[in-house]
Amino acid sequence: KTPLLQVKNLRVEFPSRRGTLLALDDINFNIDAGEILGVVGESGAGKSLTGAAIIGLLEPPGRVAAGEILLDGRRIDNLPYEEMRKVRGRQIGAIFQDPLTSLNPLYTVGRQLVETIQTHLPVSLAEARQRAIQLLKDTGIPAAEQRIDHYPHQFSGGMRQRVVIALALAAEPKLIVADEPTTALDVSIQAQIIALLKRLCKEKGAAVMLVTHDMGVIAETCDRVAVMYAGRVAEIGPVHDVIHSPAHPYTEGLMGSIPAMDEDRERLTQIDGAMPRLTAIPKGCAFHPRCPKAFDRCRQERPELMDAGRTRAACWLHAEQERQVA
Ligand code: SF4
Ligand code: MG
Repeated sequence: KTPLLQVKNLRVEFPSRRGTLLALDDINFNIDAGEILGVVGESGAGKSLTGAAIIGLLEPPGRVAAGEILLDGRRIDNLPYEEMRKVRGRQIGAIFQDPLTSLNPLYTVGRQLVETIQTHLPVSLAEARQRAIQLLKDTGIPAAEQRIDHYPHQFSGGMRQRVVIALALAAEPKLIVADEPTTALDVSIQAQIIALLKRLCKEKGAAVMLVTHDMGVIAETCDRVAVMYAGRVAEIGPVHDVIHSPAHPYTEGLMGSIPAMDEDRERLTQIDGAMPRLTAIPKGCAFHPRCPKAFDRCRQERPELMDAGRTRAACWLHAEQERQVA
């Protein structure tokens, strides 16, 4: 069975007068229908860029320089603008951090929902309005029959993000790309919104790419997780395995599970140092300057994703295993 979303050898570049900046390099992953893939990593790792490339909204001059993105077996990375706009409305729903960027402040939420529904589905105005009310109910908005005629500013932040989720689901898309959908919200509301997103996507069988820097959200929500570092996937696998038995030292660090070098200290420490700028990616494994397990090969050769037990990791520590499998 073909995965709903296939990202193959994706490379994204930002050409500039001072040379080409390689922002994403050789990104590979799939998402099946009904599956939620979390994408996690420090800011600047390329999570949002990967999402933007998939929905065809890379900020210029960013461009897909190599590789392919397929939705339902059809290439979408090279579509003309108008074609891609249709795909984005009908087949891909997007949810961003700030609900206000997704909503038009001048229109009632009902008008925005109805327009989206009617643009993409062959239904009458009355049917579209009925669907809109149902969507608002599904997303837990009380008194949906009245609230549908309210403007975005009349909703609280949490309620607004529910409206955005309703809007993203309005055309019954096959894929939802959600980029830090709860980061701007009150902590007390975040879990509710994430649970809602998960329930609705599972009910509707939509594939979800959930970008977040929050491992708690990943653990609660996702089936699989991809860990990104410096514009590449460092590790990918079932969420339980990545969290409980990470194969990549960076993932271990993210989980806060690298013990301090000092034997006396019981406490777990964070990884020292910072992720490199994209203009200065180290040779070999990009993580080697920060890696407590780095050895010679790591400084010379770049590891690709390889089998690492239950997950796949771009780390030379697992090279032996790879040879046995091959
Ligand atoms: Fe560390 Fe080497 Fe693995 Fe990179 S390849 S994560 S430097 S052990
Ligand atoms: Mg981001």
